[in-house]
Amino acid sequence: MENNIVDIVTSAIQKNGFIQVEVSARHIHLCQSDLEVLFGKGANLTWKRDLSQPGQYLAEEKVILIGPKGEKKLSVLGPVRKATQVELAQSDCLSLGIKAPVRLSGDLKNSGNAMLKGPYGEVPLKEGVIVAEAHVHMTPEMGKTLALSDQQKVKLELLTSRPTVINAVVRIDTQSRCKAHIDTDEANASGCSGFVIARIRK
Ligand SMILES: [Zn+2]
Repeated sequence: MENNIVDIVTSAIQKNGFIQVEVSARHIHLCQSDLEVLFGKGANLTWKRDLSQPGQYLAEEKVILIGPKGEKKLSVLGPVRKATQVELAQSDCLSLGIKAPVRLSGDLKNSGNAMLKGPYGEVPLKEGVIVAEAHVHMTPEMGKTLALSDQQKVKLELLTSRPTVINAVVRIDTQSRCKAHIDTDEANASGCSGFVIARIRK
């Protein structure tokens, strides 16, 4: 139900091929067994606040990511997943000394490695570190309206103080809310701040 002005405006602009942009800072998704190594046997994630995609939330827990050149604190996103996945910006990779490929979420084969540290233990992560490829979440209805299909490559024209065009991939799911997700490097380079809109171009 459209119950506030932002929802009404975003719904209207979506039908014309525009989409709200959200910036994802570095974070980690954990599998249950890694969660228990890091936070203790039987540990569960503690909900802190909901994220825009239904069912996804920011947890209270933090994990330290250690690379050859340094370490950084990561926010943990819930719920737990089948495989642990770390999403970094390229600038994070450089300062940590970690090599990670640009991938879509879930595509982890031969991705980057790093050490994870929690209050109860450490996990040597053999693969699972990626730089998340920019993507556009949309419902099947929106895909139909814009004549876009799942996994289709598009251009995202960020309408900011430094307008920038980046490559992105369409991800269609019945459970999704229509949002474009970019990382902090893409956001900083294009001058994203506050409420940002992008134009989807084929
Ligand atoms: Zn996303």
